[in-house]
Amino acid sequence: MNNDNRTYCSIVIFGATGDLANRKLFPSIYSLYKKGKLNENFSVIGVARRELDNEAFRNNVRTSIQESKIELVDNVETFLSHFHYVSFDVTDKQHYQDLNMLLHDLEGQFNIPGNRMFYMAMAPEFFGTIASYLKSEGVTNDQGWNRLIIEKPFGHDLPSAQKLNNDIREAFQEDEIYRIDHYLGKAMVQNIEVIRFANAIFEPLWNNRYISNIQITSSESLGVEDRGGYYDQAGALRDMVQNHMLQMVSLLAMEPPISLTTEEIRSEKIKVLRAIKRMTVDEVDQYFVRGQYDEGNIYGKDVPAYRSENKVDPQSNTETFVAGKLSINNFRWAGVPIYIRTGKRMTEKSTKVVIQFKELPMNLYYKSEDNMHPNLLIIHIQPDEGISIVLNGKKLNIPGETTPVKLDYCNNCLDESNNPEAYEKLLYDAILGDSTNFTHWDEVALSWQFVDTIYKAWENNKVSDFPNYRSGTMGPKVADDLLAEDGFHWWPILDDSDYSI
Ligand code: NAD
Repeated sequence: MNNDNRTYCSIVIFGATGDLANRKLFPSIYSLYKKGKLNENFSVIGVARRELDNEAFRNNVRTSIQESKIELVDNVETFLSHFHYVSFDVTDKQHYQDLNMLLHDLEGQFNIPGNRMFYMAMAPEFFGTIASYLKSEGVTNDQGWNRLIIEKPFGHDLPSAQKLNNDIREAFQEDEIYRIDHYLGKAMVQNIEVIRFANAIFEPLWNNRYISNIQITSSESLGVEDRGGYYDQAGALRDMVQNHMLQMVSLLAMEPPISLTTEEIRSEKIKVLRAIKRMTVDEVDQYFVRGQYDEGNIYGKDVPAYRSENKVDPQSNTETFVAGKLSINNFRWAGVPIYIRTGKRMTEKSTKVVIQFKELPMNLYYKSEDNMHPNLLIIHIQPDEGISIVLNGKKLNIPGETTPVKLDYCNNCLDESNNPEAYEKLLYDAILGDSTNFTHWDEVALSWQFVDTIYKAWENNKVSDFPNYRSGTMGPKVADDLLAEDGFHWWPILDDSDYSI
């Protein structure tokens, strides 16, 4: 059993009957408890509108753990006894005082020294209200630490993000705010720094002398499912690029930090975001393209067009796909395009980074463009986790002929049971007060600044060809053209892919 008293805390989950709490948060808390990372000195208070008693709430928590496929062990009833529920309207001041009393009671019962974590697992329009009432009604206290975990979307453009930030900063200091980007909890995203900074065979090559381009793909096979209402207002650029994609760019491109502290890593990531070449509104179309899915077929099943999805405007101009070309204006990266693409209803669910190295100046095996195989480093982020390296080897029995050889390392093949989910890792980091893998306000602001220009251009210039890609494909042709103009092509995302050109 862990006796680390840094984990002694109360966790208040706003939105405890919602999808995020049930699919991610409850299983993560149970997994931490099962592994002994949380001991008996904690409580969880679920807050939501629905009327529920503690018993019904605990049953929901048990069901959500069972559905997550985490095996329940004998101590589950003791675990569940830490969970309490309050039916709550977050806009009603009085309810915060009731919450405060319950927190005090549970702190006494479980011997918790006043540490309080507030998790906003509900719609963002309430974040500011909740934060200000937590402060005005004295729920944030001075007996222990107070931490606020906040979900995406963090605003829908820079001005709204700035307003939200000002609202929550009235009640919480920057170092008490943990802005979740769950990609930063993924094992292989965290591994990017290790691959780069702990391997002599990569870091010396990690620059514009040896790398020809970088490709980051995050594709989903699902459509908008039951999130049509939210998604039609957001689109792929806000939902994926502003946060996850730009975070991956900054980890791939940052300079080695002088140490592994939160501040040093952040400061290097922020420098990358500042160095991304800004576009004018008129230049956006040269660098960014968008798409929207039509009907099609995925895994043998016919699926509808985006415009026919539930709660989506039948004339919608919202993009479900984005591809773009970024340039980083600094000494290391000048001249190396970083291509990103993300979308829904694509061929396969997959997040991958492909680093394509430059050709050797005089390759003795070069015969024509067709037999040249660039070296690739592929970082598989999800669903499989690992790295592959594509090298040139000799084609058996054919003198002078080469063939691509792929070396694979699979991270989650080794011991999947020990590989915690992103939310579990991030929740644990926040409990311990480690904010390295959370986004700082400066990162959020710089990302919105970049993305807002693209939206301005797109708002002025409505599309006429939507839908422009069939479900089950890798997006519209314009995304291929973006690379073809530079003499490149997207590398395949399937794991058994043939990397021949
Ligand atoms: P949800 O709609 O399933 O749940 C919303 C919760 O908020 C419910 O528990 C509801 O009772 C509660 N609620 C709503 N109005 C309330 C009020 N006035 N007072 C008290 N409680 C109220 O939403 P979700 O999918 O769980 O998402 C929650 C947040 O997390 C959102 O900001 C969302 O964008 C973000 N998010 C969700 C996911 C996901 O996988 N579901 C992923 C990333 C981010």
